[in-house]
Order: sequence, then C-alpha cells, then structure tokens
Amino acid sequence: MLGFDTIVAVDWSSGNDTGARPRKDAIWAAVNRGGAADAPVYLRNRQVAEEWLCALFAAEQAAGRRVLAGFDFPFGYPTGFAEALTGSHDPLALWDWLAERVEDTPKQNNRFDLAGAINLQLGDGKGPFWFNGLARDIDGLSRRKDGYANPFAEKRQCEALAKGAFTCWQMGGAGAVGGQMMTGLSVLTRLRRQFDVAVWPFQAPKAQFSFIEIWPSLTVGPAPEGQIKDAWQVAEVARQIASLEVDRLATMLAVDAPEEGWIFGLGFEAELSTPPLRNDCFALPAGVHWTPVDEALDLLKDRLTAVTGIETLPATQALGRILAEPVRARRSNPPLPNTAVDGYGFAGGRDGGPHVLPLATGRAAAGDAPGQVKSGQAVRVLTGAALPTGVDTVVLQEDVRVAEGTIRFSGPIKAGANTRQAGEDVIEGQDILAAGRRITPADLALMAATGTRDIQLRKPLRVGILSTGDELVEAGETAVAGQIHDANRPMLSGVVSAFGHTCIDLGRAPDDRAALRARLDAASGKVDVILTSGGASAGDEDHMSALLQEAGAMALWRIAIKPGRPLALGMWQGVPVFGLPGNPVAALVCALVFARPAMDVLAGASWSEPQGFDVPAAFTKTKKAGRREYLRARLRDGRAEVFASEGSGRISGLSWAEGLVELPEPAATVKEGALVRYIPYGSFGL
Ligand code: AMP
Ligand code: MG
Repeated sequence: MLGFDTIVAVDWSSGNDTGARPRKDAIWAAVNRGGAADAPVYLRNRQVAEEWLCALFAAEQAAGRRVLAGFDFPFGYPTGFAEALTGSHDPLALWDWLAERVEDTPKQNNRFDLAGAINLQLGDGKGPFWFNGLARDIDGLSRRKDGYANPFAEKRQCEALAKGAFTCWQMGGAGAVGGQMMTGLSVLTRLRRQFDVAVWPFQAPKAQFSFIEIWPSLTVGPAPEGQIKDAWQVAEVARQIASLEVDRLATMLAVDAPEEGWIFGLGFEAELSTPPLRNDCFALPAGVHWTPVDEALDLLKDRLTAVTGIETLPATQALGRILAEPVRARRSNPPLPNTAVDGYGFAGGRDGGPHVLPLATGRAAAGDAPGQVKSGQAVRVLTGAALPTGVDTVVLQEDVRVAEGTIRFSGPIKAGANTRQAGEDVIEGQDILAAGRRITPADLALMAATGTRDIQLRKPLRVGILSTGDELVEAGETAVAGQIHDANRPMLSGVVSAFGHTCIDLGRAPDDRAALRARLDAASGKVDVILTSGGASAGDEDHMSALLQEAGAMALWRIAIKPGRPLALGMWQGVPVFGLPGNPVAALVCALVFARPAMDVLAGASWSEPQGFDVPAAFTKTKKAGRREYLRARLRDGRAEVFASEGSGRISGLSWAEGLVELPEPAATVKEGALVRYIPYGSFGL
C-alpha cells in the first residue's frame, strides 16, 4: 500500500505577497505523476498556495489517486515543546494549537507576536523563539538573541545529521524556518481537516494523502543557468521521489521520530540525488579529430552516474560491494577508556624515583564492566580491560614488583600512559566510510567495531558481454579454415568479474545488423551496461557502430591511444554500450583504461585512477608524438620489461605481461634506466 500516483513538492515561504511575476523566495510547487512532470507552479502568497493545494487535492481525490506531498518546513519541534505548550506530546495537537492562533493574510501575519506570546507563556520571554523582523518591538521576543535562554534543545535530532539546517526557533532572517513552520503547519492543519491525510512520521503514510517533511537542499544542487532555484528544486525533489522503487521508498519512510518528526531522505542523499543517465551522455565536442585519453576520461567522469539499484543488507554481507550511502559509527572505538597492556592501573602520573602503592583486591580483565578503585590504590589490569573508575594510568607489569599487597615501581610515568582513550580511533556519529567505497576486509572490521548493522549497498552492476564477427567460433570448439576462436569473451568476462561486477554472457553475434540488433534488444532489459568487442570502427562490416549510430545516441570516440582503434560508445534503449575494438590487445587496454572507471561509476563507486609507479626501464624505445601508448610490461629486479612485439593481435604478450607501461603523448626516446610509468594489472583491479 505504499505506491503513490502523484508526488507533490512544495517550497514554502513565510514572506508576504511576492507579486504577479514569478520570482525566487516565493512559494513554488511541483507535481510529478509516474515520472511525468508538470511545470513548477508559482504561488505568490500563502492564501493562493492554500487554494491551489485544495484544488489539486480535490482533483486527485476525485481521480482516486494516492498523493505523497512534501513541504519544506519541520513538522515537529524539539522534544518537550509540544507538551509544554499543549499538555500533550502529540505533535498534531500542537498543529491544532498553532492553527487556532496563527493569523495570516497576503500582506502580513502575526507570527512574531505569537512567538513572543509563547516565550512569555513558557517563562520570562527569553526563548525559545527569537528574531523580530518588524519595526516595532515585541514583548517577549528578542531581536538578536540578547539575553536568550532556551529550555529546549536548539535542534531536533534529525537536524544533527542535516548539515546547514536552521533551528526552528529562529523566526525570521535569511534561511530561517521558524516562520514558515507556523504559517505552513496552519495551512496543513486545514488540509488535514478537509482530506484523508496521514502525517509522516507521526502516522503511517497509508491514507490517500500523505504529508512528508522535505528539505530540497539535502538532495538538489544548484539550478541550471537562468532557472529559479526554488522552482528547479521542487521539480527535482518530486522527480527524485517519483523515480524511487516502492521498496526503496518504504525503506526511506521507515523512521521512528514520533515527536520531533524527520526530514525525508536523510541518510539517503546520494541515492536520491543521482540523476538518470542522459541519452547524449557519450556525445563528443564537434570538430575534434583525435581526443586525448585524459579528455575522454574527463568526459566519462562528468557524464556518467550510478545506474544500479540499492538494497539494505547487514554490514557483514558487504565484502566487495559498493556503499550507496556513507556509514556512520553507531559507537565509539574504543567505546570506553581501556588498558593497552597487562599491568597495574592507578590515578595520575608519577615523578621520577621509587613508588609504592597498595594493591586493591580483584582485577579488571577485557569484557568486565568497569569497576571502581579507591584513590591512592592500584589494581591489576589486563589488556583491553575497561579502566575502572579512578584509574587513568597503567604501568607495565614487567616494570613492577608485587609484594605484601603492594606494587613497587620506578617513575617517572606520564598520566594516561599505556591506556587508550574512548573514541581515540572513531567517535560515535562520525562518518567512517564514504558512499562509493568498495568494502574491503578491513572495512568489515571497522564497521563491526563501531556497531554497524544494516547498510545501504548498490546492487551489483550487471554487465552483458558480447563478441561480434563472422569469423568467431566458441572457445573449445572446432574451428575450420578462416575461423578463429573467440578470445575476447572469456577475457572480458574475467575482467568484469575481477572488477566485482556480475557477468551476463550475451554470446556471439555474426556481422549482420538484424541479428546484432536482436541481441541488443534482448539484452537491454536484463543488463545495466553492455561490453561488446569487434565491429566498432567505421568499415563496411562494423555493424556495432552502425547500429548505435542508427539509434541516434552514439559517438565514435577516436581516442589518441595505442593500441586501440575507435571506441563506439552509445545508448541502446537506455543502456550504455561500450563497443571495444576486436583486437584482443586493444580490447583489454581499452577495457582497463576506459571501461573500468566508467563501469565503476555506473556501479555506484567513486571514480578512481589506477595507481602507477615510476620505475627504471629495462628497454629502449622511440615513440612518435600524438598518441598515448600502453606497452605490455612486467617488473623484474625493480625494472620494467616490455614484451618483444607490439603487434595488437599478440595475445601471448598480454598473458606474459603483469601490467602496462604508460608512455605519455609527446614524442620520446626512452633509454634503458630512464624512469617510466608502470601500472600493475592489480592497480586496474585485476
Ligand atoms: P574488428 O574490430 O571487428 O575489425 O576486429 C579486429 C580484429 O580482431 C580482427 O582480426 C578480428 O578477427 C579480431 N577479433 C575480433 N573479435 C575477436 C574475438 N572475440 N576474439 C579474438 N579476436 C577477435
Ligand atoms: Mg569484426
């Protein structure tokens, strides 16, 4: 019952009528039905906005559509405020309370007076509200926080996670939400009375209309040139929510914040803000003949975004998977101060010279709840034990003589010696792993140590692999004269698996346009990206590039790289296709140099450059200017050797090599012993 037909996003304003011409800092609203977006609506004042919402809701109600409507102001105040004012913790009782008292017209409203009255009702008029935007003074409301005192928390719990969020106690000024909240909640209260509304997260979003609190800046970046920020933001938020799968929406709505409310999407920022791939994402600047490798890479980096879905899984199952959202420590590491050695603990450092301390009975071992030690006494402590109260310093057992209920040792010893401070490694609430990271075994340790449970992971990228060419027969089968074995598919499957993606074998296709088209059509629903080899150039039998060209979303990337003929990059029914050259050497080099970082991004990982090392050459070579060259290479005795032949059909050289030597674009004469850049296959993830 969580599917919504209509998503509405509203950017509220507590300012007065903004005039007939659409402008910023007014109220803006956007409607998105199943991905189809209406143009953002400009609402010049709150009364116009309320009428517009009523009319929209009546129409949606008549059409039997379920509506999720987001508003950009808090739905609740910090804990305790509702009860102090209304006698009830129920935030919706507070909504009613406010709606009865807020007076609002297009030209003015009483929010400052009401804030002052509340301050006086709750105490001596020093808080919680502050800021008066009017010329006249208001009893109980300070202009600039002078003498300010707030009996409640400054911010709600969710706002600690929302960097830059304003406190609801500030009633005006740039970015303030206090005024929007009072006026907005009053309007929403009237809508609640008129329609079947559930207010999230106080009520399960199961009514025909569900209201959620949104904060567009959480997931929407700056507006494109010439567009009004608020208009752009509401349209984007509506699109982001509309594009979510039902189970993801359910995950994001599973929030427990019964009094303060919650900002929708907190903790899911990366997922929500990922834009869809554009159909022209592989377009190249016109007129450029040979694109340098770095420029080609920059284009991929700029244009590509994650295409994989997201799932919630226990952290223990995350090895090799990509984080969709950052992981925050639920617990400090270490959680308590503890001893780093076996020894004796006591309070404070000691000067040089001999010391004798009475030894308390018992001991503190790892796993024991921290006990207590009297001042002036020492206690036996074992590595990892939480320090008992009254202990902050430990002396090594090797440096101590124990006799007759005392310990004896020589100073000096510094206060805090041989102990670990609580949180010295990680502090609770800190981001420990960034979105886009591929989880390593060490990450599993870090997450375990900091109490991580479920995390948001990208689903594995499904990569379809297709070989093209009339001459190809399957590896292991009999080849007749004129035929060769398909070597690229086994190789590219291995590459894709090593990269951590899921391989989907699309088999071989002949040099026939209709057959190839059928293959691509069949694949497009089942894979996230397609890697093909062969037929990527511009010749008679280069059907891959011809087909992508026909689809209208193709670019032949002539890249200044050797080995490597043109790459055919395009979109096939929304799926990106990397048409690699047929030559196995060129196919591998292009897969490592271009397809690897591109597929990483599609999979939700961060862009990464392979780590290279400058090492002396064990070869000599003269190269012409213009292209970047990759040589099959390996490291022996600290020097880079290269394969004897550079022929791009020499598969044995690929197998001989353990990495690539990268020679930059300018002409060069490499002499033995000169430094060259060596990139081990391992740096590419192989
Ligand atoms: P193409 O890019 O289709 O013009 O192919 C360039 C060269 O690579 C030709 O010699 C092809 O026979 C060869 N080739 C193409 N695909 C494969 C493959 N899957 N395995 C081995 N060689 C291939
Ligand atoms: Mg071919």
